[in-house]
Amino acid sequence: MEERKRIVVVGGGITGLTSAYYLQKEAREKDYPLDVKLLESSDHLGGKIDTVQKDGFTIERGPDSFLARKESAGRLAREVGLGDELVPNGTGQSYILVNGKLHKMPSGSFMGIPTRVRPFLFSGLFSPVGKARAALDLVKSKKTIEGDQSLGLFFRRRLGNQVVENLIEPLLSGIYAGDIDRLSLQSTFPNFYDLEQKYGSLIKGLRQTYPMKKPKKGEKKPSMFRTLRNGLGSLVEAIDERLEPGTVQKGVKVDHIEKKANGYHLLLSDGTVKEADAVILAAPHYAVQRMLSQYDFLEPFKETNATSVANVAMAFDASAIKKDIDGTGFVVSRNSDFRITACTWTHKKWPHSTPGGKVLLRCYVGKPSDQEVVGKTDEEIEEIVLNDLNKTMNITAKPEFSIVTRWYDAMPQYTVGHKQRVNEITEQMEKDLPGVYLAGNSYRGIGLPDCIDQGEAAVQNVIDFLYH
Ligand code: FAD
Repeated sequence: MEERKRIVVVGGGITGLTSAYYLQKEAREKDYPLDVKLLESSDHLGGKIDTVQKDGFTIERGPDSFLARKESAGRLAREVGLGDELVPNGTGQSYILVNGKLHKMPSGSFMGIPTRVRPFLFSGLFSPVGKARAALDLVKSKKTIEGDQSLGLFFRRRLGNQVVENLIEPLLSGIYAGDIDRLSLQSTFPNFYDLEQKYGSLIKGLRQTYPMKKPKKGEKKPSMFRTLRNGLGSLVEAIDERLEPGTVQKGVKVDHIEKKANGYHLLLSDGTVKEADAVILAAPHYAVQRMLSQYDFLEPFKETNATSVANVAMAFDASAIKKDIDGTGFVVSRNSDFRITACTWTHKKWPHSTPGGKVLLRCYVGKPSDQEVVGKTDEEIEEIVLNDLNKTMNITAKPEFSIVTRWYDAMPQYTVGHKQRVNEITEQMEKDLPGVYLAGNSYRGIGLPDCIDQGEAAVQNVIDFLYH
């Protein structure tokens, strides 16, 4: 009989959970004799996914949803029996706060790039000069660049500084919590470079490939995101329930990994050693570098910065909001005198999350230039947020309750050259650490579907390594 193979997954976030789930599924379906262990250093399974149920509210401390067009997250939810629980976001007007004033997000824009002319022409977000500069994209010749370039510089060249600072930057830094002039185009939106090369213009390229028709009167905007009725934590629970008993070990940190003649030894924080024939490293890059500190080729992970962010969810009685805005939330431009970076009207974006007659706001702090705010006390963060909110809304009462969450070193910064660095490290791992694979938000995409894709790819790599 074929010898049983031992696979250890390090990290119990969505990437590690996906890996363990699909490994066991493959093993069952294809009769591979596999033993899978998932080691998680904390007492909480799910990593950044963390749902709190309180007084009838469903509150996400980490991610609240995933992009529907990237299919792996919805597929995983259906796999684990949650197909009926998938909920689309409530759509509505979103805003951008520029120079202290809320402006409507121009309709027909994709990630801030205009695809229809009229909403841009009439937007108060840009001066006539800013609008004319953006229109230059239609005629400005393309620039072919070998390798990577900065996301910010790319957009500045195509559309000008105003569109970048008042629209693109606030939208993108909401996703990456970074400085867009340092972030990598290749690792974030490589398709925008391809559009420039193919169509000579971003606006023309998007119109061809992603036409956004003017909605008919009364027609609702399509919802782009999905979540689960009882929160994303229910996905973690459903996966956990489907893992074979004894798969997950919480509260044990992998301190060090050594390559041996017949596989790997993982030295754990409880003093024990776990042996493995293959390993999936679904932990952040800095943790991986520490586990394998004897390998110099992982040094670039030491220099890969990860920013910290905090958010505060605040529950109110609807009567407390005197000047409400009809919409789903706003992002804040850097040139505004605000410390919050964004605010979601969660009760409108996700109506199922909030009991009738109540309001749930979720605000974010922690710009790259304001990292110290994350270390402030709960009371201080709440005060900063309410102070900022009252510049645009009129909130007369204290929240019925609030939940502050800090995420330290949580947002890995994909700076220029990131993809190449990860590729080089991966190639070197194939030589020096065969059977060890990286997956997760430090490497090839930060969205939940990207993490799930990476978990699935790591499973295929492990199967190929062990059996083909
Ligand atoms: P993690 O969730 O970080 O999991 C890694 C796990 O490894 C952790 O549990 C950690 O404890 C464990 N670990 C670390 N070191 C060791 C060790 N030595 N030994 C054992 N275990 C170890 N994405 C979206 O798609 N939609 C959103 O709405 C969204 N919103 C977000 C909001 C916030 C506030 C944050 C912080 C992120 C958000 N993201 C969102 C991004 C997304 O949540 C993450 O990219 C994703 O959850 C990362 O999953 P992961 O499994 O790769 O890593």
